Amino acid sequence: MMRWRVALAPSVLILIASLLNAIVFHGPLYRFANENAGDTFLGNALNLGTIFVMVFAITAVVSLIFYILARWSLKPWWVLVFLCNALALYFINTYQVTLDKTMMGNVFGTNPGEATDLFHPKLLAYVVLLGLLPSLVVLKIQLSAERKRKTFAVLCVVGALALAWLYFASQSWLWVDKHAKKIGGMILPWSYVVNTGRYEWAKFVDHRDQILLPAATSTSHKKTLVVLVIGESARAKNFSLYGYNKPTNPELEALKIIALKGAKSCATYTTASINCILSHNDEGATLLKNEEPLPNYLQRHGVEVYWRSNNSGESVLKVHDYKNAGDLKPACQSQGQNQGCDHDEVLLTDFKKIMASATSDKVLIVLHPTGSHGPSYYKKYPPQFEKFKPTCQTVDLQKCSSQELVNAYDNTIAYTDHFLAEVVRSMQGVPDYASTMLYVSDHGESLGEYGLYLHGTPYSMAPDVQKDIPFLVWMSERFIQDKSMAVDRLRAGQSFSHRHIFHSVMGAFDMRSPIYAPEFNIFNATSSDTPVNKNEK
Ligand SMILES: [Zn+2]
Repeated sequence: MMRWRVALAPSVLILIASLLNAIVFHGPLYRFANENAGDTFLGNALNLGTIFVMVFAITAVVSLIFYILARWSLKPWWVLVFLCNALALYFINTYQVTLDKTMMGNVFGTNPGEATDLFHPKLLAYVVLLGLLPSLVVLKIQLSAERKRKTFAVLCVVGALALAWLYFASQSWLWVDKHAKKIGGMILPWSYVVNTGRYEWAKFVDHRDQILLPAATSTSHKKTLVVLVIGESARAKNFSLYGYNKPTNPELEALKIIALKGAKSCATYTTASINCILSHNDEGATLLKNEEPLPNYLQRHGVEVYWRSNNSGESVLKVHDYKNAGDLKPACQSQGQNQGCDHDEVLLTDFKKIMASATSDKVLIVLHPTGSHGPSYYKKYPPQFEKFKPTCQTVDLQKCSSQELVNAYDNTIAYTDHFLAEVVRSMQGVPDYASTMLYVSDHGESLGEYGLYLHGTPYSMAPDVQKDIPFLVWMSERFIQDKSMAVDRLRAGQSFSHRHIFHSVMGAFDMRSPIYAPEFNIFNATSSDTPVNKNEK
């Protein structure tokens, strides 16, 4: 093996590594700058220069400070940066994601199963070429001695030159400010370092003791069953119930399910959306609020609450019984329904048992399927639901034609159609309950439109497909009679939101409390003239 020795002063190594970082890992950032350029050549050159100087200077300055504070940290720090940057760049290039706080939440909310879904051989190439290789070079380099004073001098020079550039290129500030969020999410390693910190902080704040909501009372003792299904990444556009031109909802159409029109999600990612769905007000999306969510509230007031999950990103729950797909799978298989046990139908495994043993006259079952969770759409349904072909069979979505991608996605919707129909059929099996099923998706999904995939685009910039969600309602005859429901009025409603869930579930159980807002209760559509849906703000 060839022996080579290169000796470098630590500050020189830091400058070279920072330069390498600014050149190798920021292709997507410069591409973004190019695509969002203004109309003058000089202006664009200034913008590009400013980002380059920012990336280089921030990295160099922070690394120099680290070195001054802890000399041993220099090599481990750069090895870590190269390895993590290689991973980050792979995901940015493959899925066009921005590594903001939301996305870091998604990364840490991803369970191991989903993580293996994301694996692709190209990922290995990124890690070896852009992560391991530069790391080895860094480890091989001999560091010469350097006085702290000299390191500090280098730090000052880099800082001063960067400030001088920013001063003379002040024209570019406006452009940087306008795209700050997007740019911040693409500067490596700072996007994921800073945003992981922000995410962890928000999570810490979220796990304080929950603020209890005011006491509720119920006016009836009728046997009532509510099944709330929280969908995943389902967009209204691909439901034939909402006019899609492919038959994705044959079973629900036959069940005459009601598709509420104009429903918008409150956020474009799971954690925030679930907060909204389970919250009584508009502030569900802010992670700083920490009020008890709907299931905890109802459980505390005598409703027997069950939660069945094949997904993640859930609130802190205090319910009668929580089980995930793994808990349910053995019982599912022993009932001999092997196909469904690997998919969302596993959540219905003990439905009969729950209904036979429930001790309260009010039962809430929350189902949290994996639905249309990308990017491996083709793995989210059993083989017999491969209705639309050919399908995208890789997680590298850009490799697939638009048609293959949409087909795979549509198959997940067709399977959701079957799953929800199974839920309704199970509910029809307990006729002594007045029962209703509410299905609402957490957010929509992008399937390559405007070059976007998956979801999680900041709300103000997100396309409608990430925000327009299906909101479906089924009611038993008994329920319709009990509530004197004017079904046609409900069907005619024009705009619904996540906020309607909390108040409608309270309404279904005839529960009242100071926070109950009847205008958000969809079951308020009685023959009297109460407005069915006052729009939010
Ligand atoms: Zn989601």
